[in-house]
Amino acid sequence: MLSDEPAFSPERTPVTLAAALDDAALTELGQRFETADPRDVVRWAVDTFGDGLSVGASFGGPSGMAILHMAASLKPDVHVFVLDTDYLFEETHETRARATAALGLANVRVYKPLLSHEEQAAAHGSALWMRDPDRCCELRKVEPNRRALEGRTAWIAGLRRDQSEGRAAVPIVARNARFGVVKINPLARWTEKETWAYLLEHDVPYNPLLDQGYVSIGCYNCTVPGKQGRQGRWERFEKDECGLHDA
Ligand code: SF4
Repeated sequence: MLSDEPAFSPERTPVTLAAALDDAALTELGQRFETADPRDVVRWAVDTFGDGLSVGASFGGPSGMAILHMAASLKPDVHVFVLDTDYLFEETHETRARATAALGLANVRVYKPLLSHEEQAAAHGSALWMRDPDRCCELRKVEPNRRALEGRTAWIAGLRRDQSEGRAAVPIVARNARFGVVKINPLARWTEKETWAYLLEHDVPYNPLLDQGYVSIGCYNCTVPGKQGRQGRWERFEKDECGLHDA
């Protein structure tokens, strides 16, 4: 449990609580959350942001599944958004259906790119991911992510510090200028082992590709098994983020 009382009056509504979170307050909260259980961080986010809260879920890696279980147990109608790039594994679609039912998720929304696969090929050439994956991710992930967060005040993501060098200092809570929300990473301090222990203890559904050597799962065009952390993503490029989490 959190060791201190919340810094904000409990009788305030979620809207005014969220508005009171200036950068200094977020820094202070981030420091306090360094010793908090991730479930308490999720509870704080639900209590603070209410319907303004959105959970980004890939239904790929284990962290997102743990976050969904924590959030659904508090607020089954929490807004959950999925970015369907048109290049997701069938196992990922199946995991979404299975987890939505098992966790009782009542508000899962799918956001697709503005361009179909064929329209993107006509506008930018075929197999853009092999030539300019940053551009492909911008079209198929970043822009839909922006739409998914429109009108929201906070975003929960499943980033962990042990996933890559670039994520080694990821904050538990911080303002995210790129998407104009407060971004919360409740599992930042957890290891992969702790995350799996949580999934198994609570019998949380997970993507079956994780039992076949995949560690981080995104689009099938850009994901290979048998690599640690995020090294199985964009294997041919100096790239391990899609643009959602690197600013
Ligand atoms: S992960 Fe690959 S296929 Fe998916 S949007 Fe990014 S570059 Fe395109």
